[in-house]
Amino acid sequence: MTELARIIAKEIRETGRMPVSRFMALALGHPQHGYYITRDPLGTDFTTSPEISQMFGELIGAWAADIWAQLGRPDTVHLVELGPGRGTLMADALRAASAQPGFAGATHIAMIETSPVLRDTQQRTVAPIAQAKGFAPPSWHTSIDALPDGPLIVIANEFFDALPIRQFVATDDGWRERCVAEHNNRLVFVPGASLLPSIALPPDALNADPGSILETCPAGAAIAQRLAQRINAHTGAALIIDYGHTKSAVGDTLQAMRNGAFVPVLETPGQADITAHVDFETLAGAARPATIVHRPTTQGDFLLALGIAQRAAALAQNASAQNADAINAAATRLTAADAMGTLFKVMAITSPGLMPAGFPAGF
Ligand code: SAH
Repeated sequence: MTELARIIAKEIRETGRMPVSRFMALALGHPQHGYYITRDPLGTDFTTSPEISQMFGELIGAWAADIWAQLGRPDTVHLVELGPGRGTLMADALRAASAQPGFAGATHIAMIETSPVLRDTQQRTVAPIAQAKGFAPPSWHTSIDALPDGPLIVIANEFFDALPIRQFVATDDGWRERCVAEHNNRLVFVPGASLLPSIALPPDALNADPGSILETCPAGAAIAQRLAQRINAHTGAALIIDYGHTKSAVGDTLQAMRNGAFVPVLETPGQADITAHVDFETLAGAARPATIVHRPTTQGDFLLALGIAQRAAALAQNASAQNADAINAAATRLTAADAMGTLFKVMAITSPGLMPAGFPAGF
């Protein structure tokens, strides 16, 4: 057992079966042993779009600068990133967005990050570029609640997949919370107390077979709702990019990754990345009462609409033959259906009257 698994087992002995959401929150965020708290996992356990190519952050930077222009170039705008990892996306975005005259001077950069290790990395990556491009020094916060009022442009790439989910398992006597227990010195999944979750069940949950799993992400829905309310009150936009599905459905998507390979979810808490697919239908439902939700599109269609092919061609033209191949391979990896182009979805939430680039018209 890992150190954190022993701590979890002790808590289970003291207080009983632990909901999956508590297990996931501890595995990722335990103050001493949580996966994100203790390390920089990018590049070893998994990689992300901004780490694959600078084009990703550049296109998003241009997207953000365009939103600012559509907002009427306000004197102050908060450019916020949720879960910025190594800061690569923000650094590339600032470089591209600073081409928009006036943007750097108006922008306050706010990084929302819980990991002290990653905050240090972000500081080293983002602060020098912010300074070189004429932005005020970035600030760091642990929650969006700390953001000051004012127009907002929010970017979240692979953030929502790291938020704790609840799972429910279908049994002969109804849906029960899925929990974690200890058995023979190992952590195992068990059904918890019988309950009917107070959530809207997707249609396929009504006659699900015993053993089927249903997931909800209350933390994600709450953040989407709060962002939408702030955007409604102060204008702005949020861009959410993640792997997941556009329709809620029954299915177990909880997964753990270590050294680039899938490992059993309960085996090495604190030492493996644990994520779940993002249910965009639920995020959209949480945001829609407050403001406008633009229909989710795929990462492939989004990046192609923003001009990734043209950007790759321009970069390749000035590169060695070997680098040109790498640039084109990266563009393909980000957009191809059999790579990241289709599994990853992109959703925008905006105040009324904005036309976020890369989204087909319609809501
Ligand atoms: N966006 C980055 C990193 C994705 S990994 C990229 O695309 O490369 C997930 C990021 O979210 C990490 O920076 C992690 O520390 C952060 N994170 C996870 N849970 C969080 C929480 N509850 N609040 C703020 N940041 C969180």
